[in-house]
Amino acid sequence: MSEKTKLETIAAVNGIASDRNFGAVVPPIYLSSSFAFSGYERGGKHEYTRTSNPSRDLLAETLAKLEGGAGAVVTSSGMAAVDLVLSLAGRRDLILAPHDCYGGTYRLLVMRKEREQFDVNFVDQRDDAAFAAALARGPKLVLVETPSNPLMRVADIRAIATRAKGAGAKVVVDNTFLSPALQRPIELGADFVLHSTTKYLNGHSDVVGGAVVAADAADVETLAAWANVIGTAGSPFDAYLTLRGLRTLFPRIQRQQESAMTVARFLAQHPLVAAVYYPGLETHPGHALAASQQDGFGAMLSFELKGDTDTVRRFVEAVAVFTLAESLGGVESLIAHPATMTHAAMGAEARKAAGITDRLIRLSVGLEAATDLTAGLQCGFAAIVQPSIAKAG
Ligand SMILES: *Cc1c(COP(=O)(O)O)cnc(C)c1O
Repeated sequence: MSEKTKLETIAAVNGIASDRNFGAVVPPIYLSSSFAFSGYERGGKHEYTRTSNPSRDLLAETLAKLEGGAGAVVTSSGMAAVDLVLSLAGRRDLILAPHDCYGGTYRLLVMRKEREQFDVNFVDQRDDAAFAAALARGPKLVLVETPSNPLMRVADIRAIATRAKGAGAKVVVDNTFLSPALQRPIELGADFVLHSTTKYLNGHSDVVGGAVVAADAADVETLAAWANVIGTAGSPFDAYLTLRGLRTLFPRIQRQQESAMTVARFLAQHPLVAAVYYPGLETHPGHALAASQQDGFGAMLSFELKGDTDTVRRFVEAVAVFTLAESLGGVESLIAHPATMTHAAMGAEARKAAGITDRLIRLSVGLEAATDLTAGLQCGFAAIVQPSIAKAG
């Protein structure tokens, strides 16, 4: 494939028809944990699957091409990918993280800080003064998540990367919510891109996995060596499935975001909804920024119901088509209540600081017909008793 090959072509066919043994069109899966040496001190390209494996390496190569990086390391989960990047920081190093980062990332940072493995400063990166003060402390890494989970706040990757680099820090962007089909942080100045491949990249809710893509070849080597030391690599079978899912990433997410826009507009005009958070809406404060750094607005959104926690309970239990479950990015639509599900581990105080209320509901929009999705939400609204809403609203 040439330099100019479109990314959707890379996703669809990278590695296709490359089998030299039988001409298999689909690259075969190599489950072997070990690979034979051809003789004394003559190991081949692969020796042991913890270190490298053809199936996993093909996924890593494809992800690196899609993100525009020098290479990638495929891990056994998204959290393993986050932890792998954190291995770049030592005991005296400071890490800057968004105050509203993914709950699991928040917990990992806090627990490693408690063990004094590094220091952490959570900061609202849209607050210029707070961010400047944090940068003045000389961080080693600056973590960025955009759009944020679950409030879909948009952070300016270009501006953050410029300022962080000026302060001598490397920039890590968690691109799980958009995927390289809609946002490529390395083009915007990031040094690393993180993924929970569990979400859009695999896209079929049947694999837990992760990846780190690095812009710089030396960083790829460092991460690959560390992944081998701690044994955090993903399995060949999971890599095979994830690559299979990745083949359809572009058409999936394009269709999903069209439906997300329909759902967002439906919610925005609904009298029982207090607020809708979707960067695709012109009213979203991050709309223009999202339009400038993303190729689409994605298929995640959240909204506030009018009412109390009982209203929320009735709504999520009565909704049809959407399944009440954690995770996101699959072909099936999911509904989640962040305060009691995805963000429960964060604690009430940190949730409050991040602006996550008990009436906030998050949606991951799948591939069902948009009319079925709005009809499913309508079932939830129908279950809410009108008088209590009128009082609360
Ligand atoms: C899910 C998720 C993770 C963690 O990934 P796992 O595969 O569940 O370990 C990290 N960051 C974001 C933004 C996520 O959505």
